[in-house]
Amino acid sequence: MRTERSQELFKRAELCIPGGVNSPVRACRSVGSTPLFIDRAQGAWLYDADGNAFIDYVGSWGPMILGHRHPAVEQAIRKVMERGVSFGAPVDLEVALAEKVMSLVPSLEMIRMVNSGTEATMSALRLARGFTGRNGLVKFDGCYHGHGDSFLVDAGSGVATLSIPGSPGVPDDVIKHTFSIPYNDAETFRNLMAERGKDIAAVIVEPVAGNMGFVRPEMNFLSALRDETEKYGALLIFDEVMTGFRVASGGAQELFGIRPDLSTFGKIIGGGLPVGAYGGRRDIMKHVAPQGPVYQAGTLSGNPLAMAAGLATLEELCRPGFYETLAAKTRKLVEGLTAAAKEAHIPVWCDCIGSMFGLFFIEGPVRNFADARKSDLNRFNAYYAGMREKCIYLAPSQFEAGFVSFAHGDEEIHATIQAARSVLKNL
Ligand code: PMP
Repeated sequence: MRTERSQELFKRAELCIPGGVNSPVRACRSVGSTPLFIDRAQGAWLYDADGNAFIDYVGSWGPMILGHRHPAVEQAIRKVMERGVSFGAPVDLEVALAEKVMSLVPSLEMIRMVNSGTEATMSALRLARGFTGRNGLVKFDGCYHGHGDSFLVDAGSGVATLSIPGSPGVPDDVIKHTFSIPYNDAETFRNLMAERGKDIAAVIVEPVAGNMGFVRPEMNFLSALRDETEKYGALLIFDEVMTGFRVASGGAQELFGIRPDLSTFGKIIGGGLPVGAYGGRRDIMKHVAPQGPVYQAGTLSGNPLAMAAGLATLEELCRPGFYETLAAKTRKLVEGLTAAAKEAHIPVWCDCIGSMFGLFFIEGPVRNFADARKSDLNRFNAYYAGMREKCIYLAPSQFEAGFVSFAHGDEEIHATIQAARSVLKNL
């Protein structure tokens, strides 16, 4: 495969952008590779700067659930462009998107639009602290909630990929309020709450974990989070930046029947443009400025282009059978990958919920970050390299989930399984 143009661009990028990328995992360092520069995309396919075509399982890290260049989304963006791209004043589209999101996710009694998942989680945490008058935060090892100071303790995603325990620049005075404990461990959580419950402002969780690789939640774990937060007056925040509109139209909270106090969104809600959102109980959201004293603002928040892309995307997801079809595609992929690994006598743990999936090089089960870290990373790196050579575009890290889009057809799924059969055989 020719990659000269990507390499040339990366050399230039390294001189002007730290690590040559604007978000760390893109650099492909942990897999011993360099990034492909993408020229364009269509449906389930990405085309790089050297003209290679790839089947895309990253989907811009989640937003592209409809596939790339969906006509309804493109048309919505074009229409808005004819009116102007930013006014810094209220527009009809932000009300329409708020109403749409609230109709899909009943726990949202009010919502505030921001520009990224990180902004959503940082704002939700400040609100939880302002509302409860407490500082404590409970999170779970291997979960990633963006790069806000309070969340960078035993975090997943790029932090896990680069094996960074935390981050310089985050004051100890901030971190001392964060308690990070194992995912899916209801007992440890109960014990922590028994000890610290009265100091805890919020418990934040990825209701299906995707930033330590894909890890499904256990029902008793999620219900313990709801019961204990209620008992101690802490707020339960479902970070649905990844799972929102991905695992079901009402997110993981619909799937598992749990009503959090606050939820955060990103990725799909902006249809590929920069959007995040947080929302939840009206009595809490009323504390956000200017209605209340908890400050949070944004020059480009509610941007009309981004609102239009999000709205058009959500409307497509509401078509009958959308999630069933998407889940069936993903199950087929996961079954195929599992069979391919079996054929090659390579132990793997491959699982999915809806169109989120993951594959660890370990027998399993993988229930938490400690389990995920036992995956054979040398095998993962070889698998990643082999699949990329066969034009399958996967996240360049063991500690990321994969995403299937509605544009992935039988042909793409079949080609992916065939590629995996050949790559796994040679690992
Ligand atoms: N929360 C979760 C669960 C995420 O997966 C991510 C990003 N992968 C974030 C928060 C941060 O979102 P963003 O990258 O848009 O800031």
